[in-house]
Amino acid sequence: TATAHTRWIRQDRVEYPVVVGEGVLDELCSYLASAPPRGAGLVPAPEVPHVLFTDTTVNALYGDRVEALLRACGLEVFRVVVPAGEASKSLATYEWAVGEMLQGGAGRKSVLFALGGGVVGDLGGFVAATYMRGIAFVQLPTTILAHDSAVGGKVGIDHPLAKNALGVFAFPRAVLYDTALLRTLPPREVRSGLAEVVKHAFLEGEEYVSFLEAEAEKIMALDPGALAEALLRGIAVKADVVSRDPYETLGIREVLNLGHTVGHALETLGGYRSLLHGEAVALGLAVESRIAERLGILAHGVRMRLEALLARFGFDLRWPEGEAYDPASVVRVMLRDKKNVRKKIRFVFLTDLGKTEFRELASEESEAHLRAVLRE
Ligand code: NAD
Ligand code: MG
Repeated sequence: TATAHTRWIRQDRVEYPVVVGEGVLDELCSYLASAPPRGAGLVPAPEVPHVLFTDTTVNALYGDRVEALLRACGLEVFRVVVPAGEASKSLATYEWAVGEMLQGGAGRKSVLFALGGGVVGDLGGFVAATYMRGIAFVQLPTTILAHDSAVGGKVGIDHPLAKNALGVFAFPRAVLYDTALLRTLPPREVRSGLAEVVKHAFLEGEEYVSFLEAEAEKIMALDPGALAEALLRGIAVKADVVSRDPYETLGIREVLNLGHTVGHALETLGGYRSLLHGEAVALGLAVESRIAERLGILAHGVRMRLEALLARFGFDLRWPEGEAYDPASVVRVMLRDKKNVRKKIRFVFLTDLGKTEFRELASEESEAHLRAVLRE
């Protein structure tokens, strides 16, 4: 299509295309099979069945159409459909899905197509990365949030004690992101997805932030031009970071955890059912920027701009009700965060637009800051 943008992501020794645009899925086969730079050069074997991995909601909306598109490529396909929602990023659903793959006859040469949001991408990607020691997979993201989750190769599932506790790095062969599919998203999911867009903008700097401030209403209304630009800029930020630090070992990729230290803890405490990922991240961004202000490391005015933009996108930045979200509990969960070292909680703090700093805080100190922020 004329409106499609392709960005190649280089991670470690592989490269994969992220194709973004209206109607990209209609040219699925050609984007997969064409030689780079247009396509991924991936021709799925015609002699084995392939897997269309999705959730109940997305299946009802797009399952038939995407299956027909894959069949039109000459592929045999069967579907694995998990319940919609974060609770599916579980060991139980993982085990069930592997059973479906085995019963459907998926083999080493099968390709898994993950059609859905971050839950389908993370779970489906993890199934693909581990099934028979790993099969190829393609991300077909269908949410705004998935501009983030479908890129970068982190796949995995949650544990009741900690978010994303089980997972691997595994890179998709291609990411085909059809923005026409975003029109059916409920408003709450549109908003949730914008949290990661805001995160990417504050990590990048003034230009992206002021673009969002200028175009907020258009983006929320899913205006194709404004939305595509918001997503492409986010993908560019993420692509740059993950190319420089593919496996999060160099202290570069960790910046993408901005807002997630507090955010992940809130999701875990809500049993992965109360707050959507983006809602937890939005609150995490606000609370962590308030802690950065209290530490005296955040430039004047940045926190106000961040909270104002989140509020314009419709986020409720009040701390959730209920004993579950007591600061002591939040700290207890944050102590299991993957970034931690020396039994301290490792935070990524914004210090200015486009600038961050890592700080390790003891649990008592973290709890005191949280309590103070909640009183503000
Ligand atoms: P999701 O996959 O649950 O999708 C949100 C909801 O929208 C679901 O109910 C889904 O069925 C529905 N939906 C999806 N596409 C739709 C469409 N086009 N029209 C109508 N409804 C649609 O959640 P999400 O917000 O996309 O992703 C959140 C997950 O992503 C979290 O688990 C988070 O940890 C993960 N994540 C991963 C990474 C990564 O790098 N791997 C990065 C950020 C977030
Ligand atoms: Mg996230």
